[in-house]
Parts: sequence; structure tokens; C-alpha cells
Amino acid sequence: MSATLTTVSYIGAIILFVLSLGGLSNPETSRRGNWFGIIGMTIAVLATIFGSRLVEIPGGHEEWKLVMPGGLVFIIAAMAVGGTVGIIAARVVKMTQMPELVAIMHSLVGLAACTIGYASFIDTSIQFVGAEHVIHVTEIYIGVLIGAVTFSGSVIAFGKLSGKIGGKPMLLPGRHFINLTGLVLVLYFGYAFVTADSIQTATLPLIIMTVSALLFGIHMVMAIGGADMPVVVSMLNSYSGWAAAATGFMLSNDLLIVVGALVGSSGAILSYIMCKAMNRHFLSVIAGGFGTGGGAVAKKSGDAGPVGEVTPISAQETAELLKEAKSVIIVPGYGMAVAQAQHTVYEITKVLREMGKNVRFGIHPVAGRMPGHMNVLLAEAKVPYDIVMEMDELNDDFPDTDVSMVIGANDIVNPAAQEDPTSPIAGMPVLEVWKAKTSVVMKRSMASGYAGVDNPLFYKENNRMLFGDAKKMLDEVLAALKA
Ligand code: NDP
Repeated sequence: MSATLTTVSYIGAIILFVLSLGGLSNPETSRRGNWFGIIGMTIAVLATIFGSRLVEIPGGHEEWKLVMPGGLVFIIAAMAVGGTVGIIAARVVKMTQMPELVAIMHSLVGLAACTIGYASFIDTSIQFVGAEHVIHVTEIYIGVLIGAVTFSGSVIAFGKLSGKIGGKPMLLPGRHFINLTGLVLVLYFGYAFVTADSIQTATLPLIIMTVSALLFGIHMVMAIGGADMPVVVSMLNSYSGWAAAATGFMLSNDLLIVVGALVGSSGAILSYIMCKAMNRHFLSVIAGGFGTGGGAVAKKSGDAGPVGEVTPISAQETAELLKEAKSVIIVPGYGMAVAQAQHTVYEITKVLREMGKNVRFGIHPVAGRMPGHMNVLLAEAKVPYDIVMEMDELNDDFPDTDVSMVIGANDIVNPAAQEDPTSPIAGMPVLEVWKAKTSVVMKRSMASGYAGVDNPLFYKENNRMLFGDAKKMLDEVLAALKA
């Protein structure tokens, strides 16, 4: 493939990626957005394998060369192995395990940036002099740094999200000082690396920095409490983008630089949106410790939490309540995903709408375990987009609502966020389901949610608890509605 065709393909792929991101911002256009992404990535991979790229040759000159004149078989073999693992992982993974899969995928981007950094470092075929040498080794240093933080941070995030590592933040004494020392080390060895005059003298600074960056990634994510994990996932997504961009610089691949920057900046914007949704400041998320009331153990059910009577309700009674209601707001959460109850939820919605009731869905930005988790499930069940509303769009409507139905949600409907300034989730915006005439919470027990905080909603006078697996309970409600 000629150099011109490679450039044209890259530009086409970049345009498709931008269109893809635009499409993914809205549920109605997200399928189209996905297709743009798939086509863009196919073009990008083909153009990279069969295309040419500008490479430096001894003497400081540049020349267009075929990327892999003789090594195609290695690329195809690697893609076959990686692709097979990817397809199996995507097929086997449950929707509720998606955040873990995303986290471990981010770790691979970080690992790739590290290994490419080391490969570029030991590539003795290129002799750089003067400014070019400084730029090249700086790219390597930054690439390995971001890659190592992304790799180890993502592995820990995977461990936390999958429950292999406890969700409680690990708060070492003097942790900010430890982080600061790490930063000073990275800067010091960065200088030593860039000014080194041979591979031999540069190796030690690079290795020390890599180890420091790996430890920093572990420490940073270990210190972040359960309630902040959504931001961590999108933050690591952003880091993986910057790691890819750094790799693009090392490989002199413009497409990788642009795509990395797109991922990096969109991940950063998503982190900002999620911080806003949780009323948190980005820097305090990074500083860690949230979810424990500043170091104290999170309030669990059974501690000095809210007091009062809990009023249970049966599926039959819930159906009666719904039959009498004129307006219903359904608030799905992580439990709906676990129970895979979205299809039954939609069946119930259809029956209620046929009865002339106003049924809407209220979606919290951090409901479930990944951004957009609930939207994906509801779209899969074919719930019309126009009745799926964001939290801000319908929070004011609860006082005029007859029944709010909470399906496997907990933290996102916790009134303690507004009513108890000492609560670990104080200030987090929540769906005000308790303001409806009656709220019905569907869950299996009195257990707390992801943040490990008790929920006073369960004890409110106008609240009813429908205990049981969400799918089973909703099947019973549906049967009673149809009877
Ligand atoms: P929560 O984790 O607060 O609550 C979910 C509830 O679902 C649990 O209390 C559980 O109670 C119930 N549940 C579990 N399985 C079932 C089942 N089969 N049937 C019925 N109920 C069930 O989830 P929310 O969606 O309310 O809030 C999301 C939380 O996750 C927030 O704290 C958020 O910060 C965090 N988070 C969000 C991420 C994101 O990107 N969206 C990523 C990581 C974390 P019981 O055991 O009694 O049934």
C-alpha cells in the first residue's frame, strides 16, 4: 500500500472514530456509532499492516517503508491468538462482569505501552543525535510511565471490581508523602534517563521508574474506596488512551496518537461527568479514602444506622398498587442486571401503558457497575428511548408520582445522601424516590449496596419492601397484573 493511500486510510479512520464517539453519546444513535467504530478500526488495522510509515534511518533521515515486509505471518498469528481470546472473553462475560473486563483490557493497553517503550529503548538500529535523541527518549520515558501506572492500576481495579480484592480503601500512613516521593523519583530518574549517554547508563533509571510507576498505580487504586470506583474505571480508560497516544509517538504512528488522544480526552470528560454526578471533586477521588467517612469503617447494616419498622409487601399487593396508580417511575439498579430482569420489567411496562398509565424510567449516572449499564440493559429489552429519562430530567416529578418502583437499586436512591451530612455518600445526587406517594423497593435482603452504607429509605413510612430475586418477583407481579 502506497504512502498516500496509507495517509488517506488513516484520515478516513480518524473521521469514523470521531463519528463513532458522536454516535455513542446518544442511545438512539449508539448502534450506528458502534458500526462507525468497527469500520474505522478495520480500516486502521488493515492500513497499519499493509501500509507504509515514515521511519528514521541512520544519518537522521526519514524514509517511507513498508511496516512489515516479511513479518506478516507473525502479525496474523498474534491477531488470531488475541482475537480468539477477545471473542471468547466477550462471549463468556456476563453483563454484570463488563466493568471487570473493561478494567483488564485497559491493563493490556498499559502493558503494550510499556513493552513497546522497552522495545524502542533497546532498538539499536536507530542512532539519534542531539534534540531528536532527547525527544525520542522522552517519548519512551513518558510512554513507559503512563503505561506502567495504567497497567498496575487497572489490574487492581479489576481485582476490586471482581471482588478478589476488598472494596475498602487501603490508607497507608503518610500516603500523600509516599506519592510525592514517587513523583520526585520519577522526575529525578527522568533527568538521568534523558541525559544518559549509553543504553547501559540509561537502563537503571528506566527500570527504577517503571517499578515506581507500577507501585504508584497499585497504591493509587488501592487507596480509592468502593464508592469512587466508577470514576476510577473511566479515569483508567482515560489513562489507557494517553498510554496509546504515547505509544503512537514512539512508533511515529499519527493514527495511534489521534485515537489515543480521543480515548484519553473522552475518558477524562466522562470522569468529570461522573464526579459531578456523585458530587465529588476529581482530585479528592484520586487522593482516595472515600466510602469510609474519612478513614472510619463504612456504616453497614446492623451498625448504628437508621431505625424504624420495615413494611414488606407481596407481589400481588404490588400489582394492586400499580393498577391503582396513574403515574409510575421505575428506577433500575445493579440488582436488575444481576437478576436479568430487564425483559420482565419491559413486559410490565407494556401492560401498564396499555392500561393508560404514565410509566417512565429514571436512570442515575452511576447506576449498576459501569457507565450506561442501565441504558444498555433497557435498550436490549427494547424499552422505548423516550420513556428512559436521566436523573435530572425527572427528579422534580417524584412528588406528583403515585408509585416509584426501585428494582435492585440501593445507593442511587439513598436519602442519607441528602439528609445525613455524616454519611459517607453525603452530597451525592440521588433519585428522590421517597417523594412519590408510595415507593416499592425490590431486593433480596436488607443488605447494603456497593458503597456499604445503610439506606434509611427502607424504613420510611410510605416505603414497601418486596423481598426476593428481582426477576422472580417481577414475574409474579406481571402474572398478577395480567390476572
Ligand atoms: P447498589 O450496589 O447500591 O445496590 C444494588 C442492590 O441490588 C443491592 O443492595 C442488592 O441487595 C440488590 N440485588 C442484588 N442482586 C439482586 C437480585 N438478584 N434481585 C434483586 N436485588 C438484587 O447498586 P446501585 O445501582 O443502586 O448503585 C450503583 C453503585 O455501584 C454505586 O455505589 C456506584 O458508585 C457503584 N459503582 C458504579 C459503577 C458505574 O460505573 N455505574 C462502577 C462501580 C461501582 P440484596 O443483596 O439485598 O438483594
